[in-house]
Amino acid sequence: MREKLFIDGQWMAPAAGGTFPVIDPATEETIFHAPAGTAPDIDLAVHAARRAFDHGPWPRLSGKERAECLRRIATIILARKDELARMEVRDNGKPLPEAIWDMEDTAGCFQFYAGLAEEMDETPEEMIALAEPRFSAKVVREPIGVAGAIIPWNYPLLMASWKVAPALAAGCTMVLKPSELTPLTALELGAIVEEVGLPAGVLNIVTGLGAEAGRPLSEHPGIDKLAFTGSVPTGAKIMAAAARDIKNVSLELGGKSPFVVFADSDIDRAVEWIMFGIFWNQGQVCSATSRVLVEESLYPALLARLVEEAAKIRIGNGLADGTLLGPLVSKGQYDKVLAAIERGKEEGATVAGGGQRPAGLNTGYFLEPTILTDMAEDSFVWKEEIFGPVVCVKPFRDEQDAIRMANDSRFGLAAAVMSKDRARCERVARAFRAGIVWINCSQPTFTEAPWGGYKQSGIGRELGRWGLSNYLETKQITAFEADEPWGWYIKG
Ligand code: NAD
Repeated sequence: MREKLFIDGQWMAPAAGGTFPVIDPATEETIFHAPAGTAPDIDLAVHAARRAFDHGPWPRLSGKERAECLRRIATIILARKDELARMEVRDNGKPLPEAIWDMEDTAGCFQFYAGLAEEMDETPEEMIALAEPRFSAKVVREPIGVAGAIIPWNYPLLMASWKVAPALAAGCTMVLKPSELTPLTALELGAIVEEVGLPAGVLNIVTGLGAEAGRPLSEHPGIDKLAFTGSVPTGAKIMAAAARDIKNVSLELGGKSPFVVFADSDIDRAVEWIMFGIFWNQGQVCSATSRVLVEESLYPALLARLVEEAAKIRIGNGLADGTLLGPLVSKGQYDKVLAAIERGKEEGATVAGGGQRPAGLNTGYFLEPTILTDMAEDSFVWKEEIFGPVVCVKPFRDEQDAIRMANDSRFGLAAAVMSKDRARCERVARAFRAGIVWINCSQPTFTEAPWGGYKQSGIGRELGRWGLSNYLETKQITAFEADEPWGWYIKG
């Protein structure tokens, strides 16, 4: 575990000398004291990134050269997959097979953007057809500059890669601020880029608290682009900070995503995908389908089966064999989720399953998979993101009713629909006001496809070509090609 910040290619002690504890959520033990970066460290890091962008080799390399570096990062992550995954489990709590999957996806993300970096060499410019024949115009894409990336704790290294891989592919330099709840694998990424020989200052990693490290990063005038993933209230602060000097900003925020299940669905498949949509990663997933809408005639049978299957999910330390549900990430998150369940009950919801600390697990932030029913459409648990293994289930009358209920949210990150009638699925998919829609499944995420939300779920898209565009500026170069005077002021 790394005790220092990674700035300008060096490991540096934080200027203020502070640390913050890293707690294993399964045991509640402090496993590490991470370096607490503050404004002076952010300033050093931004200046290092600025120098690397303005004068260093990285933005001037070919896409192919950058791709080689990205592929070497992927290779090291795969070689260290098991060790990094175990570190992620101790930091975040998730079951080990999920953490291993995260590491594979992280490596896949670096490989994917290596491919796009190479493609940039093949299309260095694009000619634009003009209606005026005396002129030619072309478009070139250039790295946007120094990026500041602020990320959450639910997929620590994977969320870092969604920003670091496209930014590096584009030729940007950056400062990464991981979540204070899960700093370990991000610091390890510093050691990985050091090993591959990434030029000094291209990627700087400053761990620290949101107010002490995240805020100065979002406000720093040396940053050209802010890329944020996290909650809506913090997203609003980032946007306000960006507004002051008109920084380019992209936001990936929260959600309260619906899953509409029609009565012709296979009940076992529906229950499997509903559970995957809300219990994977302990429900701490921005796109979790936490509102399940079931057609009236299927509702009683589906609910009974969901309660039965959820109760069988093996809960425990993420490192224990067979665990499918680990602890929530922190005491703060645990208390927040328990309080939401209490509020749901006060507002009239029924706890149809779970809702308690699992028997025999007296230490750690463990919670049974929880199923709430009978809540009002304007209740807190139906409206607000809980970010835990808590699903709200409600019946609906018909397709129009389902679409109305699904879209009645200030969020619009994801939505899912299940039916054997494919035409109906397509119709409902188009009707959802959400950036990610799943048909007959929930949550599978592919690096090639765009990721992001409508409404308060964010601005912009990550992943795929859209993710690369986040870190590119578009420049037009227009030339007067005619061998003749312009003749506006000087006639003849
Ligand atoms: P959070 O907003 O509390 O923190 C996110 C990051 O912002 C952390 O690194 C934190 O230190 C930093 N931060 C906090 N205050 C700050 C400030 N004033 N200025 C700058 N940075 C600051 O969110 P979280 O609890 O870490 O993550 C959970 C949230 O993230 C959920 O709402 C979830 O839906 C969302 N999320 C969204 C996506 C997506 O792709 N849309 C993915 C994962 C998580």
